[in-house]
Amino acid sequence: MEKSGTVMGTTRGGAVWIPRFVESIDEEKCIGCGRCFKVCGRDILSLMGVDSEGAVVPITVDNEDEIDKKVMSIAHPERCIGCEACAKVCPKKCYVHRELVSS
Ligand code: SF4
Ligand code: SF4
Repeated sequence: MEKSGTVMGTTRGGAVWIPRFVESIDEEKCIGCGRCFKVCGRDILSLMGVDSEGAVVPITVDNEDEIDKKVMSIAHPERCIGCEACAKVCPKKCYVHRELVSS
């Protein structure tokens, strides 16, 4: 369903619903608490490591000791339904969401 280029849907009761899709996560603010991961039911987010050189890398048993901090990342943005549950539970306000405008 679309109106004025903005991707829209409806609630079960028929009211207009405008999804706001996940756009980015602020790596500087993120504390890797995993709250957002737990509430997202779409398998979108992935916990990553930041190594001593500042590179964001997958966490493995081999590099766990070299990880300075953990941050959440958006592994599969295409699966997002724009519910914003991740942003609501984030204690550090890391999330940016956007409406999708079709061309
Ligand atoms: S907006 Fe909803 S579906 Fe999208 S990443 Fe956040 S919790 Fe998952
Ligand atoms: S809830 Fe916020 S601080 Fe916690 S892992 Fe997710 S993005 Fe990072």
